[in-house]
Amino acid sequence: MKIIMDVDGVLRNIVDQVLEINRLVFDPGSTASHDDINVWNIKKVLTKLPPLNVLFHEHAKEIFENAQPYPLALESLMALKEQHEIHIVTAQEPYRFQHTINWLEKYNIKYDSITFMVNGTKNHIHGDVMIDDGMHNLDDYKAAGANKQMRLICMDQPWNQQWQGEKVYSMLEAELLINGYLRKAV
Ligand SMILES: [Mg+2]
Repeated sequence: MKIIMDVDGVLRNIVDQVLEINRLVFDPGSTASHDDINVWNIKKVLTKLPPLNVLFHEHAKEIFENAQPYPLALESLMALKEQHEIHIVTAQEPYRFQHTINWLEKYNIKYDSITFMVNGTKNHIHGDVMIDDGMHNLDDYKAAGANKQMRLICMDQPWNQQWQGEKVYSMLEAELLINGYLRKAV
């Protein structure tokens, strides 16, 4: 199967990096945690952050290269890679391309292709399965009718609780679902 794989919010935990920078630099009293980020725009929760394009640019290495993987996500990704094609599709500004490639190399992540989306939607990229945490990305595929050919799997995160459709709580669950070891009702 051809798996369209997102990075941030699925494999790479940039939220904890932003929380740490927020605490150290912008809002020393902040006790916000990953679970508190219940909207896509993190600045709506961490209100003292500078505009995100400024934050991401000034702290690009800390955020995009030093971020930890979500627990056990990469083990399941590599298990999927043994049987399927992994096509990474990730929305990144050009200054982050190299940081993202470095991060993937740091964790020895193998994949068949990588596409950086600078503008626009992902929905012209087709596969059999898509794993993403961004409701806007999943909804774009739905709107384009791609969900008829593609299985859209949302990685559960506090910021996508409104998603109507198939959802997993870990990459292990995604691995088991895709490989047919697990079935569940949507
Ligand atoms: Mg994402």
